[in-house]
Amino acid sequence: MKRFDYYQPESLKEAYKLMEKLKGEARYIAGGTDLIVKMKQKVLTPKALISLRRVEGLAGITKNGGMSLGSMTLFREIERDPDLARIYPCLSRAASVLANPQIRNVATIGGNLCNAAPSADSAPPLMVLGATVVIEGPGGSREIPIEELFQGPGATSLDSVEILTQIKIPEPTPNSGSAFVKIGRLSQDIAIVNAAVMVVMEGRVCKECKAAVGAVASTPLRLEAVEEMVAGNSIEGDLLDAVEAKVKELVSPISDVRASEEYRREVAGVLVRRALIEAANEAE
Ligand SMILES: Cc1cc2nc3c(=O)[nH]c(=O)nc-3n(C[C@H](O)[C@H](O)[C@H](O)COP(=O)(O)OP(=O)(O)OC[C@H]3O[C@@H](n4cnc5c(N)ncnc54)[C@H](O)[C@@H]3O)c2cc1C
Repeated sequence: MKRFDYYQPESLKEAYKLMEKLKGEARYIAGGTDLIVKMKQKVLTPKALISLRRVEGLAGITKNGGMSLGSMTLFREIERDPDLARIYPCLSRAASVLANPQIRNVATIGGNLCNAAPSADSAPPLMVLGATVVIEGPGGSREIPIEELFQGPGATSLDSVEILTQIKIPEPTPNSGSAFVKIGRLSQDIAIVNAAVMVVMEGRVCKECKAAVGAVASTPLRLEAVEEMVAGNSIEGDLLDAVEAKVKELVSPISDVRASEEYRREVAGVLVRRALIEAANEAE
């Protein structure tokens, strides 16, 4: 790995100042579990790293009706939070099957989102939970729906100086349930396909549905057409078959070292079906 300078600012202002001075040559670093791998492989060769670890106010979970997660919150904290597991089971589940405990002890949710891998495990759950992200920079702060963050593999809507500071998740609707399912080469490996579903139920009928899949398109993908099919119906039999078929139509996966395009397409349908059933059971 090439030598690099390392900075540890203690405020956002200090971080922006450094990044403006080192523009084009520096990267922010959170846990480093994506970035350092890319630097070792020489995919990225920054001359300087600006750590976000000491920047005040970026870590931790705040409960305020909904929840706010600082971008530097570790997956280990998310996985272990009992309120989060009760209120947002799909996100808790995603955190608990991301990599392994060693990685979860240093990997942050902000890093997972800003790395913008189509397979990022936190993306589908946050999409179905209706999360927004707060992005701050020298010019001020903006809040956008999480879908707008992802622009392509490795690309986000942040400019090079901006920092993702918070993820906000609204309070869930009563009688809702959510689920996250994932398939990898090993149980805690990067996803071959992952999927999350949130449903609001009235008896056996689904009043509202949100569904998202990862690793089957250039960005994590919301499945609006599936959501429309499910809303107003019972989650069973023919509907589940139709959902599975629709998902296969909507995704556009690629073949890579982990799986073929055909396998991903097939599995995406199956996982959304499973997540729907699990989310409906959870709502009960
Ligand atoms: C062995 C192994 C297994 C893994 N398994 C999984 C898995 O199962 N599922 C999964 O989703 N991922 C997995 N990953 C990928 C990685 O661990 C996660 O994506 C992790 O959440 C990245 O977070 P980080 O804090 O380490 O980010 P970093 O590596 O520090 O940063 C990633 C990128 O985001 C930028 N960045 C970070 N934080 C911010 C911020 N707040 N504002 C602006 N830019 C920012 C950095 O500049 C960098 O470009 C795995 C990685 C390894 C090495």
